[in-house]
Amino acid sequence: MKSNHLNEEQIAQAAEAINNDNLQSLEPIIQEHLKDCNECANEVMIVSDMIENVHLKTLENTKTNHKSNARFIKLAIGIAATITLLMIVYTLFIKNENKNPYLTKNKLIIENQQIINDTNQTAQKNTTLTQDKIEKKNLSSSDQLIAFNENQELEMIFDRYTETSMRASDVVIISNQIIKTNNTNTTSINWKNDGQALNIEIFDNNGQKIIEKTITSNHFPVNLIKNEGLYYWKLLDSDYNLIFCGKIIYKKPPSL
Ligand SMILES: [Zn+2]
Repeated sequence: MKSNHLNEEQIAQAAEAINNDNLQSLEPIIQEHLKDCNECANEVMIVSDMIENVHLKTLENTKTNHKSNARFIKLAIGIAATITLLMIVYTLFIKNENKNPYLTKNKLIIENQQIINDTNQTAQKNTTLTQDKIEKKNLSSSDQLIAFNENQELEMIFDRYTETSMRASDVVIISNQIIKTNNTNTTSINWKNDGQALNIEIFDNNGQKIIEKTITSNHFPVNLIKNEGLYYWKLLDSDYNLIFCGKIIYKKPPSL
């Protein structure tokens, strides 16, 4: 397209022809193009104006300075026209770059690609997060499995006591031997007691004693248990003779 426009020399010729009022002197091909092409016509008009201005100024200068010669005038006109052309070319170039559908399309494609990349990255991040979550869930569920493993040694002690043996000495166990709870805050081990000092012990399923307390009351809250899992509780008299052994299964309600 651009290559079909008038070249700089043709533009200059056309501008001069306009200024000299003899457009007819131009090659027909230039005349035809100027009729059809507003862009080139504009360039010609601008250059023509420029030349005219320089002419006028030069004429003024010539009036006051008769030593200015025609060579200088021609040079000045040439420089002015060249500057104008450069400005036009620059303007057109900038204009074209902004308007060029191919460039714009590419830019759009690049921008879209960026958006796609961003989206992919976000998606990847989300996937990673989800994977982390799943891994955490798997980990915690395997932790849970471990936390609910029976402790063989404590199981043997547990097995020695049954619901029917809950009455031991003066202490009557009220709680179930297996206390299932989803909230340790609201759960306690209960028994009847005439006020004697008893010892309560709670073990995790590794057999580690996690709670030990001497009490004279008839219940013991299990809210010190924070993690889900299987626990064993022992009630002992003041001489540490075992009165009873039970279990606590603490499983939180499924969270959303
Ligand atoms: Zn043109």
